Amino acid sequence: MSNFANAFAPPAEQADAKNLIGLSRAELAAEMATLGEKPFRAGQLWHWIYHRGETDFAAMTTLSKAFRARLAEGYRVNRPAVSECQESYDGTIKWLLSFPGGHQVETVYIPEVDRGTLCVSSQVGCTLTCRFCHTGTQRLVRNLSPAEIVGQVMIARDALGEWPASSIDRRITNVVMMGMGEPLYNYENVAQALKIMMDNEGIALSKRKITLSTAGVVPEMYRCGEELGVNLAVSLHAVTDDIRSTIMPINNKYSLAQLLEACRRYPGISNARRITFEYVMLKGVNDSPADAKALIKLLDGIPAKINLIPFNPWPGSFFECSDRRAIQKFADIINAAGLPAPIRETRGEDILAACGQLKSASERARKAARPQAAENLS
Ligand code: SAH
Repeated sequence: MSNFANAFAPPAEQADAKNLIGLSRAELAAEMATLGEKPFRAGQLWHWIYHRGETDFAAMTTLSKAFRARLAEGYRVNRPAVSECQESYDGTIKWLLSFPGGHQVETVYIPEVDRGTLCVSSQVGCTLTCRFCHTGTQRLVRNLSPAEIVGQVMIARDALGEWPASSIDRRITNVVMMGMGEPLYNYENVAQALKIMMDNEGIALSKRKITLSTAGVVPEMYRCGEELGVNLAVSLHAVTDDIRSTIMPINNKYSLAQLLEACRRYPGISNARRITFEYVMLKGVNDSPADAKALIKLLDGIPAKINLIPFNPWPGSFFECSDRRAIQKFADIINAAGLPAPIRETRGEDILAACGQLKSASERARKAARPQAAENLS
């Protein structure tokens, strides 16, 4: 494990300047029109920002000097501030990002043999309060802006040397909206950020390489399918409404039946493009062979892949992880029914970057840095 990044702050004289990151193409064009620039100039600027990763207007040499000077006066191309960056022995990298007001989120890069996945956060904290998730115990909660969401990808590309964006030899091949927060409770901002990431003249991630994970905000699942068409992951975690409502309060709002109906109707699903169901293995709660059989029945007719996640404990967590043998047996039963059920390997455990652990470090840092403010804000 190593620490290798430091705090970064925008130059003081630019503190009021407008950040161009996070604007949609149309918004960027409208903004440039106020400077009297034609839409193709906005296109060139877009290319510099999202294809080249350039942050310095002076270096944007296809733009006229006068235009560059005006941009430098009123605008900036700013990433979120990185207050800490840690690398695990297994190559996983976690960035702790700080936003004005003491808000922090985490972004995690997970390298694998055949791909590299960036796990992106959508909110500071989370309002869902799933009983097994550490993020849900964080007191500060707010939506991230499109700039703060797409900025996470840009930070990672900066660190991994991924500019200009190229379609070959990428280290970040996939983005998963599986970090802190519930992306569908911040739908508009997440959608805008994902559209920027998918834009072909920039980061150019295909919708097939992006997965949005939700605890089951049913109405927005329909919107997500129609408007974004990205892969869907659903945090299922239980096979009856009783148990699911106990561990995931959102189930009181949208029942299993409603959730699975939205899954069945998710556009574009097929055996080649399955919905991922995440299932956290909680000892004695949801991990019996009978649960596995019920799960198969529940998912009947849905092209599904079940991701079994060994529960990651955190300080004060009430649950225990199922035994390895129980998890294997659960997987075997599902596999025997013809459904893939990989057991998710825990990554970045030494830097608390694993599923459901995203909070400890940031809360600790926040409390250490601002003990007074932390109390006042909560
Ligand atoms: N709110 C979204 C995005 C978060 S994704 C969602 O619920 O899908 C994070 C995943 O990690 C979710 O599947 C979540 O249920 C799971 N998770 C949360 N706490 C965990 C823990 N302690 N151990 C293992 N997985 C956990």
